Amino acid sequence: MAKQICYRKECTRIRSELSIFLNRRRPPLFEGHAFCSDSCLLAYFENELNDKWRRLQMEKSRKIPRPKIGTILMQTTYLTRDQLDEAIRLQNQTREGRLGEWLLRLGFLEEHQVTAALARQFGLPLINLRNSSANAEAVRMIPGKVAKCSGLLPVGFDDDEDSIRVAVCAPVDFLSQQAIQRMVQKGIRVYIGDQSKIQQLLGEWYEPEDLDLSTLPTFSSMDELIEVGNEIVTTAIENRAEDIRAELLQEFFWVRLDYSAESHHYFFRYITTPVEDSSPAPGNEFIFNYAVGR
Ligand SMILES: [Zn+2]
Repeated sequence: MAKQICYRKECTRIRSELSIFLNRRRPPLFEGHAFCSDSCLLAYFENELNDKWRRLQMEKSRKIPRPKIGTILMQTTYLTRDQLDEAIRLQNQTREGRLGEWLLRLGFLEEHQVTAALARQFGLPLINLRNSSANAEAVRMIPGKVAKCSGLLPVGFDDDEDSIRVAVCAPVDFLSQQAIQRMVQKGIRVYIGDQSKIQQLLGEWYEPEDLDLSTLPTFSSMDELIEVGNEIVTTAIENRAEDIRAELLQEFFWVRLDYSAESHHYFFRYITTPVEDSSPAPGNEFIFNYAVGR
């Protein structure tokens, strides 16, 4: 029996009692940590989930000051004030699409100009996706639903292999990026690429069902999240998962169960409960809401 102490700080069991779980040849780990019992593992898990939920709510209300994309475009391209105003008017009128998309639709700019401006706006390096071919290993590491939901395309690895390179057209928020890093146990290097190319390659590199978010089970509150979380972790323990990882991203809850030979991923989509009042519910599409810049 391995000499391990329970990772849960509050655990008051004395060492001689740490045998129930550890009698198993391989007690399940949670995020790489060992626990004395399933109740301690679940208690720790619930605590972590509460914490992540709270931080995510805070992150959603955080506004990151950034230069406006319209200003950048007027400085770096021939875009005129009148053209910009027209795009802004249409965006406000329809309440859909990002400003850059409107500028493309109106034919005022080419996509590479918008992409370059986004890279400047977010302070991220550019990536040219024109001749990209799929890197099977990188694609395997990021499940399609994560790629789709976060709008990121895994394109390969950094030279040292420590980080996965991902192309995005709007930055992945900081907490989700950290969550993905913990989940894949590698760093994530973010580059800005053409939106149309990212969408196209996502469709080519993943199977349609891998990208389908419409069939995911949902949750709409912290209580529901704890409920689905407890259920899946309990089942994982029963099924003798070796390591259990769970992360909360802006739009969904992601569980990864590692068995001896394979990993299983589960996703639960976060939906806000419909608001009775007819005004549009704020924060429904929070994954990109901070990226709608001008
Ligand atoms: Zn314990």
